[in-house]
Amino acid sequence: MSNDRTRIIRHLQALAVERHPETAPKALLETAHYLSDAFSQCGWTVTQQLFKAEGRTYPNILAIRNPAGGKRDSASPLLIGAHYDTVAGSPGADDNASGLLVLLEAAERLKNIPLSQPIWLIAFCLEEQGLLGSTAFATRLRKMKQRIRGAIILECVGYARHEDGSQRQPTGVPIPVPTVGNFLGIVGNEPSRSLVAAVEQSAKHSVPAFQTLTLTVPGCGEKLPDVRRSDHAAFWDKGFPAVMLTDTANFRNPHYHQPTDRIETLNLDFLDAVIETVIASIQILAGPPHI
Ligand SMILES: [Zn+2]
Repeated sequence: MSNDRTRIIRHLQALAVERHPETAPKALLETAHYLSDAFSQCGWTVTQQLFKAEGRTYPNILAIRNPAGGKRDSASPLLIGAHYDTVAGSPGADDNASGLLVLLEAAERLKNIPLSQPIWLIAFCLEEQGLLGSTAFATRLRKMKQRIRGAIILECVGYARHEDGSQRQPTGVPIPVPTVGNFLGIVGNEPSRSLVAAVEQSAKHSVPAFQTLTLTVPGCGEKLPDVRRSDHAAFWDKGFPAVMLTDTANFRNPHYHQPTDRIETLNLDFLDAVIETVIASIQILAGPPHI
């Protein structure tokens, strides 16, 4: 087994446990620590952004790398985000250990790559409680008048099938959706078009056989509630460009939000292709100018 695959499995085993503020608060906190440690070990600067919700304080975990010698004050960071809480009763391997894994692999594989823009990797808390962590984060950015290059949000990104009939058409989606569940969904809104294009191009170049399906919605996706179901919507609502990458969750994965959302149901080759796509997107959007 390759070193990368061994590391990926080790991370997934650590992350895919129930992480819920009421039913598994200890695991939720331990996951925040695990992520902080892993980002720090790759040389990223880690801070917690605390927010109040449901009578308690919770942390979003933020890991930052700035360009060397940088004009960091004028630079707009590129954000990559995923959530670290789960619903009650589910170990959340696809939702959202798969997204967290992409953050951890980005931290590892980009640690020595020169940058032109800062990169912020963010693990949000309480997505499952109504996007509370990402809403607190985006609200604070807006108040501070912080500009960003955009936010790439990893929703469920680890489940794929190759049989016909393994993909359902999400309600109201105005484009034909393949019936084989092995593509990555890229969902943006109109102000996010350049971000969407960068991710599409990255997927095509880095993993030519990887299928993607792009949907760009008007406004903040108000007419299609299913496209607003993750942390990117918190950024859209505050006027920031953001894109969601998704395996389409319950429209493909029968284990969605179930006790059976376990590591052995994930497709690690699909997850590898998502990792490659996100790394290539970061290099296009925040890498050295000559790339
Ligand atoms: Zn979920």
